[in-house]
Amino acid sequence: MPRPLTPSHEGYRLLAVHAHPDDESSKGAATTARYVADGARVCVVSCTGGERGDVLNERLKNDIHILRDIAQVRRDEMAAAAAALGCEHVWLGFMDSGLPEGDPLPPLPDGCFALEPIEVTTEALVRVIREFRPHVMTTYDELGGYPHPDHIMTHTVSMSAFLAAGDPTAYPHAGEPWQPLKLYYNQNHSGGRIQAFHEAMVAAGIESPYAEWVAAIDKRPKRTITTRVPCADYFEVRDRALLAHATQVDPDGWWFRMPRELERDVWPTEDFEAALSFVPIARGEDDLFAGLESPAAADAMARRTDLDPETAAYDGRVTHPAPSREAS
Ligand SMILES: [Zn+2]
Repeated sequence: MPRPLTPSHEGYRLLAVHAHPDDESSKGAATTARYVADGARVCVVSCTGGERGDVLNERLKNDIHILRDIAQVRRDEMAAAAAALGCEHVWLGFMDSGLPEGDPLPPLPDGCFALEPIEVTTEALVRVIREFRPHVMTTYDELGGYPHPDHIMTHTVSMSAFLAAGDPTAYPHAGEPWQPLKLYYNQNHSGGRIQAFHEAMVAAGIESPYAEWVAAIDKRPKRTITTRVPCADYFEVRDRALLAHATQVDPDGWWFRMPRELERDVWPTEDFEAALSFVPIARGEDDLFAGLESPAAADAMARRTDLDPETAAYDGRVTHPAPSREAS
C-alpha cells in the first residue's frame, strides 16, 4: 500500500465498534484502510468473540479443527483481518449471544453479551475509549443493521459509553475522562446502494444477487446519510480482510459477484449517518474528521468535561437512549 507523502490525518484517532469478528470487514473496512493509509490510528473493537457463529463457508463446514475450536479460529481470522486493514484491535471480551431462530424464539444463552448488565458492558467500552482516546467513533444504528441481538446491544452500549466516557463522575476508576467528539452509524448497506448495484449489474449483463432486496426496498428503514467517505482505492484491501474470515465468508458468495471495477464507478464511497457531534456536520460531508481542528486542538476539546450532549452541535439520534435519572 503506497503511503501518501504528507499524511493528512496524522494525529487523529478513530474507534470502530463492532459486534463480532467479520463485521469490521463488511462495514466501514475500506474507510478504516483509507484512514490508516492517511496516517490516522484506527482501532476496531469486537464486543464478542463470535463463538456462536455458524460456519457459513461450505468448503469449511466439516473441517474438524474448525468445529473443535471455532473460538480460536475466529480469533486467528480476526488477527489476519486486522493485519490486512492495518488497524489496531481490541476484544471487549463478551460472549456471543448467537442469532436465535425458531418460533417462538428460544431464550438467549446465560452469560451472553446481550444479557450482561448495561453498566458492565458500558464500563468495558468506556475503558477502551479512555485508553485509546478516539476523536471519532462509529457504531450501528438503533436497529443494529440487522436484528442480531449483539448488533442491537452494540448500538446500546456504544451510545451509553460515548455519553459516559467524558463524564468525570461516570466510572471514575476506568481512566481519565475523554469525550469523543463525533459519533456515526455505519450505513453502508443502504437501499440506494443496493439499487444502484442491482441496476449496474443488470445493465452489464451480470446476474444480480440483489433482486430480492430491491423488491423489498420500500420496507427498508429510510436513514439520513450525512457523510460519504471516498475509499474505492481500498476496496481491494477490504476484500482481503473479508476473505481472512474464511469460516464466515464464502469466496464464491454474492458479496464478490459485483465486479470491483464496476463497484468503483457505481458507488466509490462508504456511507455514514452522524448520530451526535460536538462540531457542526456540514452538508455533503466526506470525511469523518471534518470540522475538527488540528489534532492538538481536538485533543484539548475531548479532554473538556463540560461538553453537554443535549446541546451538541448536531444530534441525529432517533431515540434518546438514556432516560433521565428522575424518570426512573
Ligand atoms: Zn454481525
